[in-house]
Amino acid sequence: MNQSSSTDAPQVAYPRIALFVDGEWIHDRPAFCEVRNPSDDTVLGSVPGAIPADLERALQSAARGFALWRDTPAPERARVLLCAAELLRARRDEIGRTITLEQGKPYADGKTEVERACGFLEWEAAQALRVYGSVLPSEPRMQRLVFKQPIGPVAAFTPWNVPISSPGRKLGAALAAGCSVILKPSEFTPGAACAFVQCLQEAGLPAGVVNLVFGDPVLISTTLIASPVIRMVTLTGSVQVGKQLSKLAGEAMKPVLMELGGHAPVLVCAGVDGAHVAQQAAAAKMRMAGQICASPTRFIVHRSVYDSFVSELSRIARELRVGDGFAAGVQVGPLMNARRVAAIEGLVQDAQARGARVVAGGQRIGQRGCFFAPTVLADVPLDAMAMSEEPFGPLALCVAFDTLDEALALANSLPLGLQAYAFTNSLEDAERIGRELECGALSINHMGAPGADAPFGGVKDSGLGRESGPGSLEAFLVTKTVLQKTT
Ligand code: NAD
Repeated sequence: MNQSSSTDAPQVAYPRIALFVDGEWIHDRPAFCEVRNPSDDTVLGSVPGAIPADLERALQSAARGFALWRDTPAPERARVLLCAAELLRARRDEIGRTITLEQGKPYADGKTEVERACGFLEWEAAQALRVYGSVLPSEPRMQRLVFKQPIGPVAAFTPWNVPISSPGRKLGAALAAGCSVILKPSEFTPGAACAFVQCLQEAGLPAGVVNLVFGDPVLISTTLIASPVIRMVTLTGSVQVGKQLSKLAGEAMKPVLMELGGHAPVLVCAGVDGAHVAQQAAAAKMRMAGQICASPTRFIVHRSVYDSFVSELSRIARELRVGDGFAAGVQVGPLMNARRVAAIEGLVQDAQARGARVVAGGQRIGQRGCFFAPTVLADVPLDAMAMSEEPFGPLALCVAFDTLDEALALANSLPLGLQAYAFTNSLEDAERIGRELECGALSINHMGAPGADAPFGGVKDSGLGRESGPGSLEAFLVTKTVLQKTT
């Protein structure tokens, strides 16, 4: 493990965290929690907690912001989003540094995430110009029009693993549609969210169109979702919190867009080069220490290529450089916090106790920071906890199969269905997998996942609705039918 610091990141200070309500940055609230660097446990700053009066003010501000923004011409909304993307890109290095400090991912990945957020804003800026209604066939002196209008102020909750691209994806679409937003990001990674909102502010977004709050998640979600001001709720986060927020939204009759957890299966079929697939799989699995919703997790591998796959995957896992995200050559950063380390330790121990073989890693690294060795478990029994709980860590689970029926049944056996992957040389198998695998996105013969121009989301417990792609604004629009007699 390497914890020495490289110097190519700009040496800017970690930002001071603040709420942003009605166009004003608010610092002077009691600290809700500290922000810690998961690479060395040092305290980077503290997060002010919103008090009920802040939430009420944010709601009233979002109502005023909506009235203004929905009537702002679409080209002007697009201009603000494009300008915010330009500002983010110009600050990519310093924001990337903030992300690495508070989240731990390698600095190069922090910078890539900023670029990704820009890509979402740019896609949604163009989407703002394509909100079309329709005109229905009508008799003379009657017009029958179908309008698409912004749904209203949105409550948006975002996670720590993608602390700037998730707000970019969500707010890009909401703002393009003409909605105002109250954003509650994760308190583990508040610096990225502040930098994001600052760019929107400097790009000319009027006060009230975006408000930013931190603090007690239960107080914030119950207050915002129950308020008549809020018309729609969106979360990127865990299944558990998704269900809680969906319940609150249901009680208030508000639609939701939920991007939740996954447990991605990777079907590796007979006839492929197991070692070659393992090389692609290792890079995708260990990226961001496995803390990605689309992270490949259950490797369901045909028995004829199983040994070559497992041996190459574990060889690469053992060679990966784990350490501080600023250190030269580091490929895998820390887990988000000590709780995540304990969770992965528990999953490994449970799988081992049930008969799994640890072929790489298997334990935490050092006592400082939250590092866990890239881990490959082979012959994992189906009743191991890790086979059904989202590990959200550097844990690859390998099992062998004999028939495609068996592989598909195993892949579909969980109540989750976000991203999935398959490797095959057979067109027939690829067609069948595409049809039968229960997931929101499937990558065949590569480990990529959809970007800004393709829909992304889950089936089953992995979520409701889709972000990005040609229909990205749908969740933020309502349809109004106007029947107008002209005389
Ligand atoms: P989380 O559900 O714990 O938190 C997400 C957000 O919800 C945070 O802002 C958090 O503070 C807030 N929150 C937590 N409890 C809340 C409550 N009771 N009321 C209101 N808000 C509450 O998730 P996380 O640990 O930040 O992120 C990891 C999870 O996110 C994983 O399950 C991962 O798969 C999922 N994720 C999904 C996608 C996707 O696109 N589907 C993308 C990234 C992450």
